[in-house]
Amino acid sequence: MKKGLLIILSGPSGVGKGTVRKYIMNRNALPLVFSISMTTRAPRANETNGVEYFFVSREEFQKNIDNDNFLEWAEFVGNRYGTPKSYVEEMRNQGKNVILEIEINGAEQVLKKVKDDRVVSFFLAPPSLRALELRIRKRKSEPEEVIQKRLAKGKSEMEKAQNYDFIILNDNIKRAGDEIISIIKKLDED
Ligand code: 5GP
Repeated sequence: MKKGLLIILSGPSGVGKGTVRKYIMNRNALPLVFSISMTTRAPRANETNGVEYFFVSREEFQKNIDNDNFLEWAEFVGNRYGTPKSYVEEMRNQGKNVILEIEINGAEQVLKKVKDDRVVSFFLAPPSLRALELRIRKRKSEPEEVIQKRLAKGKSEMEKAQNYDFIILNDNIKRAGDEIISIIKKLDED
């Protein structure tokens, strides 16, 4: 059986990775599973443990680092985020495509570590930095200081776009999502 694709969806915080990922999964056009990350961040009002993330304490996160349970992990604006390794491996070995929705440092780690040819990386880009700022502010879930940190980070993250297989402009969720689906479909058929 063919190993499932490892699909990296990255890009600056607030660009809409989550929305585009959900659109892609809801279209049901592809056999695709989402890798739920572990984070030390507190859940937002609309988030559920085990759906968007596994929300854990810093101690529990550290235990997972010590036990080498992560495919990658990164610190982002004061919190830690990591991809549990075993789920990704199991799913891919069952022939299922796995999508990772992760920030830039984590994506770099995965690209360095996973050397098989069934890996594809997407950089989701905002139409402008102003558009990114508006999206982050619309979320209304964080204090100004954190918003500023996310924005500053977003600017430097944009410079990494050329390291990815595909740069996708998120000018419209459906358009961006459909573009990603058609690329994955082609790769899936190979
Ligand atoms: P947020 O707090 O907005 O949910 O996430 C902050 C950033 O961390 C986002 O860019 C998100 O995509 C990223 N992220 C989520 N899960 C992971 C993960 O497992 N590893 C890494 N490196 N980044 C992640």
